[in-house]
Amino acid sequence: MSSIADNLGSVTRLIQKATLQAGREPGSVSLLAVSKTRSSEELREAVAAGQRAFGENYLQEALDKMFELSDLADIDWHFIGPIQSNKTRQIASAFSWVHSVDRLKVARRLSEQREPGLPPLNICLQVNINNEASKSGCQPEELPGLVSEISQLPGLSLRGLMAIPDPEQAESELRASFRKLANTLNELKQEYPQAGPLDTLSMGMSGDLEMAIAEGATWVRIGTAVFGNRQPKS
Ligand SMILES: *Cc1c(COP(=O)(O)O)cnc(C)c1O
Repeated sequence: MSSIADNLGSVTRLIQKATLQAGREPGSVSLLAVSKTRSSEELREAVAAGQRAFGENYLQEALDKMFELSDLADIDWHFIGPIQSNKTRQIASAFSWVHSVDRLKVARRLSEQREPGLPPLNICLQVNINNEASKSGCQPEELPGLVSEISQLPGLSLRGLMAIPDPEQAESELRASFRKLANTLNELKQEYPQAGPLDTLSMGMSGDLEMAIAEGATWVRIGTAVFGNRQPKS
C-alpha cells in the first residue's frame, strides 16, 4: 500500500500535468485534501508531507480533529458538507472556507457569526449543476439573486462556485457540467463586477480531476486518491 505522502506526490504531479496541458498558469490549481472519515493521525501524516488545506463534511468530526491537531500551525480548514443552519456559528469560527453555501439564510448567519477579528470567511456557492433531486446546492437560476445579496454581507468574501456533478454521467456530459459551472462563474463576474473576487471554481474529485482542471477548476477536492478507499461512515 502506498503512503499518504506518496499519494500526495502523485496527485500533485497529476495536477501539475493537467494544468500544463490545459495551458494554464502553474500553481493556479490547488489541492484540497478531503479528509472526512480519516483519523487525525492520517491528517498528521499529510501535514508532515506538506499538505495544508483539508476539506471536511461533518462538523463534529472536524472539530474533534481540529482539537487533536491544535499543536500544528497553519492548517487551512474548508467546510464542504451540507450545512444545517443551527451549525453555522461553529462553522463561521473554525473554518477559513465554506464551499457548500446554497441559501441566503446560511450566508446571513455565517456573516453575522464570523468574528470581526478574523479575516473574511471565503464562500463558494454550491450549485446543483445536473438538477438532481437528491442533491444539495442551489439551482443555477437562483445564483444572480444570491450573488447580489451575499456580496453585501460583511465578514464574507464571495469566491466562486462549487459543484458535485453526477459521477454516473458519460464523460462528455461530465465535461459539459464542468464547463457549465465555469461559464456560469464568468457570466456572474461580468454581471456583478463588484460582488467579490469570484475567482474560484471548486470542482473535480479523485476520478475526474484532469477534466475539471481542463475546464477551469481552481480547487480540486480529492479524498480517495490521497488517503485510499474510505470505510463507510458508521
Ligand atoms: C468526499 C468528497 C470529495 C472527495 O471525493 P473522492 O472521490 O474521495 O476524491 C469531494 N468533494 C466532496 C463534497 C465530498 O463530499
